[in-house]
Amino acid sequence: MSSSLIRGKYVVCGVVDRHQATVIEDGAVFQRDGVIVDVGGHDEIAKKYQPDEVIGSPDDVVIPGLVNSHHHVGLTPVQLGSRDQALELWFATRIAGRTVDPYLDTLYSAFEMIESGITTVQHLKGWVPAPLANVEAVIGRVLDAYDAIGMRVSFSYALRDQNRLVYQADADFQRRLPDDLAAELGAFLRNSALPLDEQLGLFEDTYAKYNGRDRTRIQLGPANLHWCSDQALAAVRDISDKYQAPMHMHLVESPYQKEYARRRGGGTAVDYIHAQGMLGPLMTLGHSTWFTEGDIEIAADTGTHVCHNASSNLRLRSGIAPLNRLDARGVNVALGLDEAGINDDRDMLQEMRMVLKLHREPGFDDNVPTSPQVLRMATANGARTTPFGAEIGALEIGKAADLVVMSWRDIAYPFLDLDIDVTVIDAIIHRAKTTGVKTVLVAGEPILRDGRFTRVDKAAALDELAAMMVRPRSDDELRRVALSRDVLPHVRAFYDGYLDAETRDPFYALNSRR
Ligand SMILES: [Zn+2]
Repeated sequence: MSSSLIRGKYVVCGVVDRHQATVIEDGAVFQRDGVIVDVGGHDEIAKKYQPDEVIGSPDDVVIPGLVNSHHHVGLTPVQLGSRDQALELWFATRIAGRTVDPYLDTLYSAFEMIESGITTVQHLKGWVPAPLANVEAVIGRVLDAYDAIGMRVSFSYALRDQNRLVYQADADFQRRLPDDLAAELGAFLRNSALPLDEQLGLFEDTYAKYNGRDRTRIQLGPANLHWCSDQALAAVRDISDKYQAPMHMHLVESPYQKEYARRRGGGTAVDYIHAQGMLGPLMTLGHSTWFTEGDIEIAADTGTHVCHNASSNLRLRSGIAPLNRLDARGVNVALGLDEAGINDDRDMLQEMRMVLKLHREPGFDDNVPTSPQVLRMATANGARTTPFGAEIGALEIGKAADLVVMSWRDIAYPFLDLDIDVTVIDAIIHRAKTTGVKTVLVAGEPILRDGRFTRVDKAAALDELAAMMVRPRSDDELRRVALSRDVLPHVRAFYDGYLDAETRDPFYALNSRR
């Protein structure tokens, strides 16, 4: 097979703790057949091995491949006509989005992810129209796109069997609507629903078909508490247990979801799914924005992971997750870009930079994010939320050779003083831009080399996507535009008075956490 030596002025092997990372100056990684064989000083590694090729240079910095632990789509909601607004209204506007070719759509965001140093993605697909054969075809096209571009993917299909538009049974919500609109919405919701047994079978079939691919793993996606009946939650828990397959579940993304959980079970959403036996190292809770102190304790005690989707929470008015308290309690927190970050793209370097600063509470205590902590969230912590686990997330002997070669000059030119207090990791988190990402390796293979994709023609794929999107709207798309517009005021009315004044107060979220 093939081997390579990847060198850098700095090789960032991994994070030790919230203040230290292992960084080798003038370092190198030697990989053979996709597995890291050795890591050390460049001269020593170069003497020991005869690589087929040398990648990187003394002007570069080498870091572990980044993990985007929460991802859904290619073309962003804004690109498809939904502007940022409160999550619950935004759901209704998403009905109007145009149908997008799943293969080209997946490539589109994969280009952006890889160009920002992401080598592994947790892809949570959902909301594909029935019948089952259509859902299966879409899943196949998504996974074929990752296979084509060479990216590592942990995939799940979002499982939902109730409350498809608001936090109430579909039939009850339809009764609030004029008859013709109720019928229109009913038809739309039926067309977006698979029976629970088909959804469970879909996991088993997808697992059997794709989990064996080298860079693909299949896991479970119970979509959110309000979207899952007790029967669905129990079934997902049992399948996860049987396959030892991780689960990724949106939870308490917004204050409305916190209130929904109270109405459903009398406690928090975490209490509810804990009682269902769903928590533990196989569970990642996406968002977790409105966790209480008690929720944080339960997550820590059970070894449940959290995925922090900071940009998404800001964009959809969901709030700010209690990252500092989660970290202090030792909860494993990953990073996710969700639909898109602040730049309306999938720029993990920018997301890390924002997370570093978003949680800077006033004061002098060591309780705010550090650069190594944020890097670990985007590498090893994220890895632990996927079935790849300890195979990825650091540059160490025996791990997969997933790594990113970035221009150090892009970060440090014309001057950067590392003699006083700023470390290499600080410099990367504060200053690294996608323009400096040169070469990205997955399993030892350069899938981006000197800024060019090696397996897929990016310009041709984007041209093809653009050409497909300019066609006139279909009748189905026109109907969905009208449905979204007509149903929106009723969605807004449903949530009128849903929250009491105390729960709506942002200081309640940030400071009380009861
Ligand atoms: Zn999401």
